[in-house]
Amino acid sequence: MDPISVFDIFKIGVGPSSSHTMGPWRATQRFMKACEARAGSIGAGLPGVRSIRVDLFGSLSKTGKGHGTDIAVMLALSGEDPVTCDTALIDPRIRAIRDRRTLPLAGVRSIPFEPDRDIVFHPTSLPFHPNGMTLHAILDDGREFSETYYSIGGGFVAQEGEAPTGNAAGPTVAYAISSGRDFVDHASRDRVSLAEVVRRNERAWRTDAEIDAGLLRIWHTMRECMYRGCHTGGVLPGGLNVVRRAASMNQSLLGDEMYEGEQEWLYAVRMRGKNFRQILKWVSCFALAVNEENASFGRVVTAPTNGAAGVIPAVLMYYDRFCDSTDRGIIEFMLVAGQIGTLFKQGATISAAMGGCQAEIGVSSAMAAAGLTHVLGGSGDQALMAAEIAMEHHLGMTCDPIGGLVQVPCIERNTMGAVKAITAANMAVDGDPKSARVSLDDVIRTMWATAQDMSAKYKETAEGGLAVAIPVTLPEC
Ligand code: SF4
Repeated sequence: MDPISVFDIFKIGVGPSSSHTMGPWRATQRFMKACEARAGSIGAGLPGVRSIRVDLFGSLSKTGKGHGTDIAVMLALSGEDPVTCDTALIDPRIRAIRDRRTLPLAGVRSIPFEPDRDIVFHPTSLPFHPNGMTLHAILDDGREFSETYYSIGGGFVAQEGEAPTGNAAGPTVAYAISSGRDFVDHASRDRVSLAEVVRRNERAWRTDAEIDAGLLRIWHTMRECMYRGCHTGGVLPGGLNVVRRAASMNQSLLGDEMYEGEQEWLYAVRMRGKNFRQILKWVSCFALAVNEENASFGRVVTAPTNGAAGVIPAVLMYYDRFCDSTDRGIIEFMLVAGQIGTLFKQGATISAAMGGCQAEIGVSSAMAAAGLTHVLGGSGDQALMAAEIAMEHHLGMTCDPIGGLVQVPCIERNTMGAVKAITAANMAVDGDPKSARVSLDDVIRTMWATAQDMSAKYKETAEGGLAVAIPVTLPEC
C-alpha cells in the first residue's frame, strides 16, 4: 500500500465538504491541467477551449447543491485554489458567473457558462464510486476532451482507472504500517514513541523543520477558524435558517471579560475554563465554531474530512488551553492522529458516501482520542485503545444531513465526537490495553463491514434518517 503523509490527512481548504467541495475542486483543477497538457490547449486561460460542461453523478448529484459541489467546480474553473482563495469573495464571484452567464476560465479568459445548463446532476452513480464526475472541454475545432474523476473522501481524488487510494505512488518510508499493531510494534522494537515513528516516515517527504512548520501552520489555521467562528453570529447560508451558536456561547462563557484579538481571547479562554462544566462548554463551543465556519464556506482544515473538521481542533484546543501543553505536544498530537486517520483510510474508508457518518465523525474522534492519549503520556497501546474506544461508539452512525446541507446534524455531531475523544483518551490513559476485548484493528475491520452492510440511504444521499424525517424545501440559488 502506498504510504500516506499526515499532510494528506490534514489539508487547509474551504468548507463545507471534503468529498463534495474539496474533492471536486481538486478534480476540476486536475482536469484543467490535463486540458493544457493533452488537448492542445496550452497557455494561460486554456485558449483552445470553447466551453466546459460538468456531469455530477450519484452522491455528488444528490447532495451536491447543499454541499457546494457546483460552487467548487465554478471556483476551480475560475482559477481559484482552496488554500489561497479569499473566502469572503466566494459569494460575489459565484453571483457574477450566474448573472453574466460567463466564467473567467483559469481567471484569465471569459467563456460562456450557465451553471444550470453546464453543470448537470445525475442521481445514478457510476460503478466505481458514488462520488463520480465527468468534465468535458469542447475545443475550438469541435473536438471534445473528457475525463472522469472520483472524489473518494477527505478531499482525495482518483481518476478513472487509477488506484482507488487517490494518493500518488509514494516514496519509500522508514516503516511500513498497515495496521495499528504494526504501528505500535515499530515503536516498541525501535524504542521510540508513536510520534517518532510517524515523523521518521514523514521524512520521506519533508525535513524535520518543514514537518514542524507545516503542522504548526495547520494548527494556526485551526485556531484562526475557531476564533472567527466564536466571533461571528447570524444565520448559516443555504436556507435552513440554522442560527450560529458559537459566538453566543463564547460570549456567555466570557461574560464581561474585555479582550482584543486572538491572543487575548486565548488567554481569556484559559481563565474561564476552571471547572468541568465550563471546559465541557468550551469544547463544544470550539467544535461548533469550526463547523459553523465550514458550513459558511469558510477556511477550515480537513481533518480527515470537512464535515468532521471541528473534532480535532476542539480536542487540540482542549489540550492547548486546559492541559500542560507545548508546541511539541501539538505537533506530536497531529502526527499520531494523522497516522490513525491513515489506518482508517487504508483499512476502511473516510468517505461518508461509502461508510456513512462513522467514516467522518467516528474517524476524527478516533484520531483525536489517540493524539490526546499520546500527549497526555499514554503508551502506544493506550493510544490505540483510545482510538478503538472512540470509534466503537460511532459504529453504524448514518449520514443523513437535512436538506443535503452540512449543518444538521453535522455541526452538533462534531461536539459529540470531540467529547467522546476526550473521554476515550482519559479512559485509555488509566486503562490496561491487555484487558481490552476489541483492538483498533478489529474495530477498523468492523467499521468497513458495517459500511458495506449499510443501506445507500444513509451514505450521504440525504435519502434517509433525519434528512427524510425533517423534509425541507430550500430556496433555489
Ligand atoms: S451527517 Fe456526518 S457524514 Fe453526513 S454530511 Fe454530516 S458530518 Fe458529514
